[in-house]
Amino acid sequence: MSSSNKIWLSSPHMGGTERNFVAEAFDTNWVAPLGPNVNGFESDLELYQGQDTHVAALSSGTAAIHLALIQCGVEAGDEVVCQSFTFCGSINPIKYLGAKPVLVDSESTTWNMCPIHLEEAIQDRIKQGKKPKVIIAVHLYGMPYQVDLINEVASKYDIPVVEDSAEALGSTYKGQKCGTFGRFGILSFNGNKIITTSGGGAMVCHSQEDKKQTVFLATQARDDAPHYEHTTIGYNYRLSNISAGVGRGQMEVLDKHIGLRRAMNSFYVNAFRDIDGVTVFQEPSEDYYSNHWLSAILIDTNKTNGISREDLRHAFAKANIESRPLWKPMHLQPIFKDAPYYGTGVAEELFETGLCLPSGSNLTNDDRERIQKVIFELFNNK
Ligand SMILES: *Cc1c(COP(=O)(O)O)cnc(C)c1O
Repeated sequence: MSSSNKIWLSSPHMGGTERNFVAEAFDTNWVAPLGPNVNGFESDLELYQGQDTHVAALSSGTAAIHLALIQCGVEAGDEVVCQSFTFCGSINPIKYLGAKPVLVDSESTTWNMCPIHLEEAIQDRIKQGKKPKVIIAVHLYGMPYQVDLINEVASKYDIPVVEDSAEALGSTYKGQKCGTFGRFGILSFNGNKIITTSGGGAMVCHSQEDKKQTVFLATQARDDAPHYEHTTIGYNYRLSNISAGVGRGQMEVLDKHIGLRRAMNSFYVNAFRDIDGVTVFQEPSEDYYSNHWLSAILIDTNKTNGISREDLRHAFAKANIESRPLWKPMHLQPIFKDAPYYGTGVAEELFETGLCLPSGSNLTNDDRERIQKVIFELFNNK
């Protein structure tokens, strides 16, 4: 039915008050990368994250990772360990600094960094003469990684963790918000994320000094002087006061939208309940609470009479419904093919058999019926 509207994986969903904050910015002429909306958005995020955090609003999540690596002292030639199964935004900043990514496989319960392969990687890099400077761990699709186990390895070798929580705003591990476990936490407000500022990100810090340093680096590292004086290389990474206005409005509906995304996950659990060989990705235990930014499934063709991930993806496409394979692991990407990799193929298998499904908080009952119909027709006409 190409005449029907396209159903997207994840599209922006405004709550309604965003325009008021943006209008106020125009009315008061705060059309700049600072102002009341930036401050207000930061305090909204601090309150939401809890744990006495200090938040700096930035132009993107990728910019936040870049500044986190700089503040952890990463320099050209250093090595940084990162999970291979992720979006390139987690890893590209390693390259911006002339440092080297060391890639680690996932474990199969949370799909995130495997603590065993992490330790194997660290030990091997140390043996080769270089201790990694930073560990970048990612909560993919909103699912918290094995925080305790990863932290255990990180503290054993005294390596700071940069926590990529770009997809996990509102997710919790043992009741504590994702984005608050690392030396630095990273958030993203890109257009497809659980809340959006059209484009934006944030650094979650654990001290006022860290926040101050983040803002300093994000505003061209201007020293304290009446003229422009610079002793450090800076960046232009601050968030616009207009965008931050959108963010303040989005914060008012964040928890409601998480509830709706989680309801989409339940919808899929139900839709695939009687279909052998399809598993919906869910929390492995009560310790984990996912915002279910994207709902995803794995398809085992041995149990589906050969119906594959690609068959379902094409059937959705024909009905004007977007779906997408899971992230292609970074060690399989041409840009990172020379990076050392430690693993046994969990991430590869996820990429081969997994599919992300429409997950937005703005999907309607009609949308769900169209999705259900595609699933039913494909798996019942086999
Ligand atoms: C979106 C995303 C980023 C980057 O955030 P941007 O705001 O798009 O720069 C980093 N890591 C992950 C896992 C993401 O999904």
